[in-house]
Amino acid sequence: MKCAVCARQARGYGWFNPHLRPNDPNRYSDQWVFCSCRCQYAFSRVMEKTEGQMIDPSDMELAAMKSCLSPLGEYVGSVGMQRPLADYSRDEVLTLIDVVVTAYKVCMTAEHERMAVRDRAFFEDHLARQERSGSKGDAP
Ligand SMILES: [Zn+2]
Repeated sequence: MKCAVCARQARGYGWFNPHLRPNDPNRYSDQWVFCSCRCQYAFSRVMEKTEGQMIDPSDMELAAMKSCLSPLGEYVGSVGMQRPLADYSRDEVLTLIDVVVTAYKVCMTAEHERMAVRDRAFFEDHLARQERSGSKGDAP
């Protein structure tokens, strides 16, 4: 079992959703296990803030995660596909993190820029229609 927060080996720390009744099967999950009080506490703080609702990633976030696969695969291929992560040097792990985080941010930024362009086009079109209908009313 892996810690639900940091993915280290879980060590008997668990969590249940106190917002749900004891007979509700969603009250407990065997995935809510943790390596330490620290991870257990971090998880319970998130669950308190979200009132027991896990936050699913948005479609944009899912797309950004998928955009990391190719750069991640390329990097792992360059390091050596057969090497286990535990054999990576510190610099190799940091580069792996940088590759993934950068790919994620690039995708999220590009998607937000596309949304901004789309929103701007919508509002410009909306304003142009208002001006056209306004000028028709004023025409003699
Ligand atoms: Zn942990």
